[in-house]
Amino acid sequence: GESISVKDLASKLGREVSEVIKKLMLLGIMASINQEVDFETASILASEFGTSVEELPPEEDPTEIPEIEDDPKDLVYRHPVVTVMGHVDHGKTSLLDTIRQTNVTAQEAGGITQHIGAYQVMCQGKKIVFLDTPGHEAFTAMRARGAQVTDIAILVVAADDGVMPQTIEAINHAKSAQVPIIVAINKIDREGANPDRVKQQLSEHGLIPEDWGGDTIMVPVSAHKKTGLNELLEMVLLVAEMLDLKANPNRAAYGTIIEAKLDKGRGVVATVLVQKGTLRIGDSIIAGTAFGKVRAMINDRSEKVKKAEPSAPVEVLGLAEVPQAGDNLVAVDEKTARIVAEKRLAKKRTEEQKQSQKVSLDELFKQI
Ligand code: GDP
Ligand code: MG
Repeated sequence: GESISVKDLASKLGREVSEVIKKLMLLGIMASINQEVDFETASILASEFGTSVEELPPEEDPTEIPEIEDDPKDLVYRHPVVTVMGHVDHGKTSLLDTIRQTNVTAQEAGGITQHIGAYQVMCQGKKIVFLDTPGHEAFTAMRARGAQVTDIAILVVAADDGVMPQTIEAINHAKSAQVPIIVAINKIDREGANPDRVKQQLSEHGLIPEDWGGDTIMVPVSAHKKTGLNELLEMVLLVAEMLDLKANPNRAAYGTIIEAKLDKGRGVVATVLVQKGTLRIGDSIIAGTAFGKVRAMINDRSEKVKKAEPSAPVEVLGLAEVPQAGDNLVAVDEKTARIVAEKRLAKKRTEEQKQSQKVSLDELFKQI
């Protein structure tokens, strides 16, 4: 809570510092002139002097947009958002690809990626959202900015290769983000595939398979042969159900930038995962230092849409500059968007200036 120094308190009360310190001593508090006392102490002290103090509301950060508190009764089911993680070449892209039933790998090879960075699939009449961004990047870039977009991590481990350094890294990322892990033991079609060895190795890293009495779901799959994929998706839905994922669709939109770029023809294109509320065409928005108005939205099937609800990934056109992955996107009135963006820009400039001064000082010391 709030606090005030003995010196400031004395001046506010119109008393000598020594008087205040003496009173505090009588109350059993030994305090020096620059010591901070809490609101409760200040208020007792004030009444001792025959007056009172008032607590001020916490100061608002002009670079933040106040969060809207949702009433629990307004919360409704939302689809789970999944990230695929794992060691290089263990089959993340192939798995995402097979699940999506398109050929992302071929597009990647040619350097033409037209994906929007996320897509939705159906299983048992329910939707699951997959983020295309490699899990590690998604986690580090997003979490560095305090954003959390993933509900469930699918950890891909090749059955013929086993646990590798990036497998362990992925486990650590998911654990520190407190995101539940479902293991996909991939490439079970391969000669030399040894799912039991994978389970053994994962157990050594704290992931004990259910069939060994633990609580980590592990599904043997083959992205190539398309085996086990339905079971994997069913497990995602099962975990999602346990997580009881909910959001309020009837409020101003709040989401996170998944990726963003400048497109020659279309201007700034940002993939946004809407997490709360509904984003609509015409909404004025802010993301990082970028602001603008939603001019158009395109879903993962390249269809133009007029609105996007919680857990929906959409491409958003209309921001004036390119935001960064992990930035929050908030729908807010135009004036606030502009003012907050300006404040953020000013803050960023100051920080950059400080940084460059620090660098030049470092350079100076290096030369000495
Ligand atoms: P990533 O680096 O994790 O995205 O891995 P990729 O999806 O690029 O796959 C790496 C290699 O493993 C490629 O040559 C794939 O064709 C191959 N691969 C992926 N999944 C399977 C599978 O289920 N079975 C077999 N036999 N090969 C696979
Ligand atoms: Mg890949």
